[in-house]
Amino acid sequence: MSLAQLTALNTITKPLEGKVAVVTGGSRGIGATIAKVLAKNGAYVAINYQTSIDRAEAVVKEIEDQGGISFAIKSDVSKPDDVKSLMEEVKNRYGKIDILINNAGITRDRTFRKLSNEEWSEVIDVNLSSVFYTTSEVINHMLEQGYGRIINISSIIGQVGGFGQSNYAASKAGIIGLTKSLALETAKNGITVNAVCPGFIETEMVGEMPENVLENIISKIPMKRLGQTDEIAEAVLFLIQANYITGQSINVNGGLYM
Ligand code: NAD
Repeated sequence: MSLAQLTALNTITKPLEGKVAVVTGGSRGIGATIAKVLAKNGAYVAINYQTSIDRAEAVVKEIEDQGGISFAIKSDVSKPDDVKSLMEEVKNRYGKIDILINNAGITRDRTFRKLSNEEWSEVIDVNLSSVFYTTSEVINHMLEQGYGRIINISSIIGQVGGFGQSNYAASKAGIIGLTKSLALETAKNGITVNAVCPGFIETEMVGEMPENVLENIISKIPMKRLGQTDEIAEAVLFLIQANYITGQSINVNGGLYM
């Protein structure tokens, strides 16, 4: 079915009607919620997953059950060839890409002196180099169409550092620098590039932290609670609809870092 035919099926006008979005690491956590919120707002959403096809298909089903349009696509975003195929498949299916959400991320926490080369490289590859690979595959296309929204999921850890997280902090701080530089280069061409810096959000990633560490963190959050995935998705949706905001890092952290 062509994009025009798919659009005709959706009778109620929604803010992202006719837009095509790619969400990396969209099978669970923050990525899954972003995918669902974008679909609910009318976007056609390609949900990238690395391993868990069942969970990615479950997100697609949830979107379709609510009248949205979506499909799941396997790709390791730390591998340039995989990313090339991912973006080609999305363009083949939906004809274009308007919105790129770079959400995939991992942690391999270790104090600096114990951090191995592999743990360093793996986190930099998945969290930061992936943003270069995915964006490189869509940027010319977005420039040609004179429209693009790129939103990179960074972290409060990229702003304040984290004990045992030099690899993760470096990757997330790197995302902020990349975001600002690319925003400068594309600002006059209808493309905005922004980052969202979540604080501590209730997902499986945070669930892996020891309970006492988590309790200690929550006690320091001015709002005294973890954030929810839909609170990150709201910021993403806002940035997609904003026309005059670029190169920014929006903090969604309950006041933990101001
Ligand atoms: P999560 O572990 O639940 O989800 C991460 C997703 O990325 C998973 O679906 C995973 O399969 C995918 N992924 C990992 N490596 C991949 C690869 N090589 N290729 C493709 N997909 C890959 O984590 P989350 O909490 O939902 O985090 C989402 C993003 O938000 C991450 O970038 C994370 O660093 C960031 N973040 C999370 C928090 C938090 O508190 N949860 C805070 C700040 C930033």
